[in-house]
Amino acid sequence: MPTTSGVDRLVIRGRDFYIKRDDLIDPLLSGNKYRKLYSLVDTPATRYRRLISYGGTQSNAMFSIAALCRQKGWLFDYTAKTVPAHLKASPSGNLRMALALGMRLHEVAPAAYQAAIEKLKLQSAPAMLLVPQGGADPMARFGIDMLAREIDAWRQNHRISRLHIVTPSGTGTMAYYLACALPELIVLTTPVVGDRGYLAAQMERLGAMPHNLHILESSRKHHFARPSPEFLHMWRELKEAGIEFDLIYGAAMWHVLFEQADRIDGTILYVHSGGLSGNATMLERYRHKGLI
Ligand SMILES: *Cc1c(COP(=O)(O)O)cnc(C)c1O
Repeated sequence: MPTTSGVDRLVIRGRDFYIKRDDLIDPLLSGNKYRKLYSLVDTPATRYRRLISYGGTQSNAMFSIAALCRQKGWLFDYTAKTVPAHLKASPSGNLRMALALGMRLHEVAPAAYQAAIEKLKLQSAPAMLLVPQGGADPMARFGIDMLAREIDAWRQNHRISRLHIVTPSGTGTMAYYLACALPELIVLTTPVVGDRGYLAAQMERLGAMPHNLHILESSRKHHFARPSPEFLHMWRELKEAGIEFDLIYGAAMWHVLFEQADRIDGTILYVHSGGLSGNATMLERYRHKGLI
């Protein structure tokens, strides 16, 4: 299995973009999560017996950790808020696939969720590892540094001087460590989960804000993972241009990128963050809302 990714060219709205195809590295551990979990991919299977994590029940991180644990033969315990009855009866998307990969789901009533997570964080046992929500952890740095070296080698090969790297943010872990690793380049990102303030606060937990990291915000407010005609339109346009992105992070990042593209001078390298495994459930939601 390859551990590096190639770069493709994508022409859209008359402008050239380069796409770092991290979505193609591993069929199960999708782009962003492959990089963030790489130190675990690289860890001997005998090191752990069990991984634990927590978060949303359609999370890409959940699915990727489930795939990693299956590959390694590790148990995987995942804590989430109570799953709605209809979803439990017939799980879909990332949840269905993670359960099929052997994930053990532990449901907690919403009112008790926060306390349960605090308890998880204090838990310790030999050969057990807690992966924080979304893989937001300093251990992510190892794999992101590898990505940064690939990007820099590509840039030097192509003698590109003004390079902007673009990638969407949830916890901001990817954008943050990329900016730290490539101080002479500019990293552009957008908050997909909360607003600029939320993202900056998440990043500050990792360290001081790098000067070369710029947060772009859309002129219109969008709610996390809520179907939006603008995002659907953006997603379709990209797909027709030749590359499929995810409907949550990718669609939001490209949307704001085009809002502000005229102000970005120089070459743009978009780091594809993967996440295609979530598209089926998102498309279902678009259909349910009558948007498709
Ligand atoms: C998790 C994820 C992100 C966000 O990554 P962070 O490092 O948490 O900012 C972006 N895109 C996709 C597809 C993801 O699954």
